[in-house]
Amino acid sequence: MSRARVPVIGLAGGIGSGKSTVARFLADLGCVVSDSDSEAKACLQQVPVKGLLVERWGGGVVEADGTVSRSAVAKIVFADEEERVWLESVIHPRLKSTRVALYERAVQEGAAGFVIDAPLLFEAGLHAECDAVIFVDCPRAERLRRVSGSRGWDEAELERREKAQLDLDEKRRRSDYLVRNAGDPDALRAGVREAFDQIRRVSGSR
Ligand code: ADP
Repeated sequence: MSRARVPVIGLAGGIGSGKSTVARFLADLGCVVSDSDSEAKACLQQVPVKGLLVERWGGGVVEADGTVSRSAVAKIVFADEEERVWLESVIHPRLKSTRVALYERAVQEGAAGFVIDAPLLFEAGLHAECDAVIFVDCPRAERLRRVSGSRGWDEAELERREKAQLDLDEKRRRSDYLVRNAGDPDALRAGVREAFDQIRRVSGSR
């Protein structure tokens, strides 16, 4: 996807740093957003995927209403690395197809950009699809305040989840642009616009 005229922009940053907020601001600037979290949730409920999960793990992963139980799936894959790798082999190619279809639509619609909002952008190798990666920089104390408010996590939970991801300094180092999200949404919006203008200039001159 990387040499097209619609620039592909990846988002990176710590948990609760404001990636989804930045994605919304980029949508306001005319970008189409691929939200990996919600696409993965939808993928899990596709009939063929459900069939594969039941075949491997039994009917216990399906709720009484017929939907796949995300908590049951999470329990299995967090306890067993081999099962996690298997689930990824089922989900990732499908997510890629969804992303490519969304990107093609963005090109047809003449979108200003295409944004990949994926919590594990580098870990999943999605940065390779991007023309530019924006790192959303937010102090840890501020992130903790946000995730304890919105998700009810304490410091230990934030740390546990962060440890499962690539080191933050490494993510920052591997990103092309940095926007600060230290609290003021207007300042964040301005930073996003500035980074986006630069990305557009660079991709337009290629
Ligand atoms: P991420 O996608 O990186 O996990 P989110 O964009 O979901 O982070 O932000 C986490 C929470 O913090 C959300 O509830 C969001 O509305 C809030 N938030 C993000 N940036 C700001 C800001 N500058 N001011 C106030 N609240 C913010």
